[in-house]
Amino acid sequence: MADYTYTIFLDAGHGGSDPGAVYNGRREKDDTLNLTLAVGDILESYGFNVIYARTEDIYESPYQKAAEGNASGADIFISIHRNSSPYPNQYSGVESLVTKYNAGKAQ
Ligand SMILES: [Zn+2]
Repeated sequence: MADYTYTIFLDAGHGGSDPGAVYNGRREKDDTLNLTLAVGDILESYGFNVIYARTEDIYESPYQKAAEGNASGADIFISIHRNSSPYPNQYSGVESLVTKYNAGKAQ
């Protein structure tokens, strides 16, 4: 295996004045922050470098976060969200959006 430590940029979706999806008082921004910090701990325990867009309840626009991710030199950017529906248990599963675009690095 190559002697290289991958760097992962983790974005906890939403934050601050932007609660994201809200249902019964549960706010997406809180869930994404808790999940992001937990995922980051696991990744760090496996030896990955982890950079966080936020580690507290603050707002930055998605564009700011993307710019920070690109400027960080990270190998991958992951933005974590938790969608919701007005009807309990209407949806389940995982949605993944993947792009190869990175203006700051060679492909
Ligand atoms: Zn979201």
